[in-house]
Amino acid sequence: MENQKHVVIIYPHPDDESFGAAGSIYHFRKKGVPVTYLCGTLGEMGRNMGTPPFANRETLAEIRKEELKEACEFLDIDYRLLGYRDKTIEFEKLEHVAKDIKAILEEIEPSLVITHYPDHGVHPDHNALGEATIEAVRLMDEEVRPTVWASAITNNFEEVLGEPDIAISLEEHFDFKLDAILKHRSQAEGMLEKLDNTSDENKVYIDGLKGRLGKERFFTWKYD
Ligand SMILES: [Zn+2]
Repeated sequence: MENQKHVVIIYPHPDDESFGAAGSIYHFRKKGVPVTYLCGTLGEMGRNMGTPPFANRETLAEIRKEELKEACEFLDIDYRLLGYRDKTIEFEKLEHVAKDIKAILEEIEPSLVITHYPDHGVHPDHNALGEATIEAVRLMDEEVRPTVWASAITNNFEEVLGEPDIAISLEEHFDFKLDAILKHRSQAEGMLEKLDNTSDENKVYIDGLKGRLGKERFFTWKYD
């Protein structure tokens, strides 16, 4: 968490920023560091339509766009849409995506970029955009290259990659992260229902959620 000039987060879906980095964003914004989210797609192919459903295949893109706007307002960050189609980033040419991202990074001049760890992003869009982002930074002049933090979210990433070198704990700010996630109503309402129910069984659910989401961990990417 050393001093940063500008942080750019590059993930493919509306809600990845909240699930994956709301706690880190909280810490950066508290220090006055600008944060920009480059959101790859509108998540328009997602299967969650709300609980009970209020979206459909035709309206989901617009609804998720609005949710993204609200989440970013809540997180107090800027965002831009990269305009790729959901569930298809893996079929784009890596060098094209990398070139687009490089151009934006050269304009914003961030000191830090956060993305998914390729092959450890679970979802093909996560892996593909993580790979393109790492390539984009590699193509930049070494003097202006930002640091890259990559988040691995596979179940076995620690066995394969070891311990992440960056860990940001949320602790008393966990509710901030939950509130950010819940701005994505179409995706998180099922979760919200469980949070409102105070049964013992539910306590187990919330504790599990805190375990999974309460710490944001990243690997500093090594270019050589
Ligand atoms: Zn995602």
